[in-house]
Amino acid sequence: MSRTLVLAANWKMNKGPAATGEFLDPFLASIGSQAGACEVIVAPPFVSLPAAAAKLAGSGVALAAQNASQFDSGAYTGEISVGMLQELGVKHVILGHSERRSIYGETDEVINAKIKKVLDAGLHPIFCIGETLEEREGGKLETVLRTQVRDGLVGVSEEGLLNSVLAYEPVWAIGTGVTASPAQAQEAHAFVRSLLADLYSDEVAQKVRIQYGGSVKPGNSAELMAQPDIDGALVGGASLDPKDFQALIANALA
Ligand code: PEP
Repeated sequence: MSRTLVLAANWKMNKGPAATGEFLDPFLASIGSQAGACEVIVAPPFVSLPAAAAKLAGSGVALAAQNASQFDSGAYTGEISVGMLQELGVKHVILGHSERRSIYGETDEVINAKIKKVLDAGLHPIFCIGETLEEREGGKLETVLRTQVRDGLVGVSEEGLLNSVLAYEPVWAIGTGVTASPAQAQEAHAFVRSLLADLYSDEVAQKVRIQYGGSVKPGNSAELMAQPDIDGALVGGASLDPKDFQALIANALA
């Protein structure tokens, strides 16, 4: 089964509108036609979305948000709705990131509501899952992933799943410089795909793209991307430098 690779940049709370332009000018010039050979997505902070949308128009690189509210509108101070994101040209929304889970207390139930809200609007969730080091060392890897996948996808149709990308991000590898070995990552990805096969069907599971995330860098990405169940990367730190992010795309296509 050939799945189009998907490389996404999660800038987290980095790069305001000016810095977004400073990144995108050289980045877009350097990637040329590569954005057609794989899917490339950039997720700036909310305030930089308009600047990014203006630069990305016609480039083949898609715009993502790093979060969205599960509500449509109203008294939710500080929140941003899916409709507002849509108005800015956002196509993908990162949901369930471990920083949202651990720092902001987002539960599987909240993440599930957000996933459904994003899908209902015709946008594409990038649904993040992953275990902490304590959970892995305690032998709970499979239980944690099973719960996150099952509860995050409650009520999500087969079509909804196919409009989503999953991102396996072991929490212990995010921003730490420690990456999962290609074998560890492949094993987890194959397990996640087996969960999707149980919940939907093997045919559907084979079509779903599962990105790896966690200290992906130009020096370690080729081996990770070569694993049969790894379909791209969700990249934090190394996506902040246009040369590094371009190198990750080049490695994925090599
Ligand atoms: C992330 O935040 O999704 C991530 C994978 O970060 P980093 O690449 O910096 O580990």
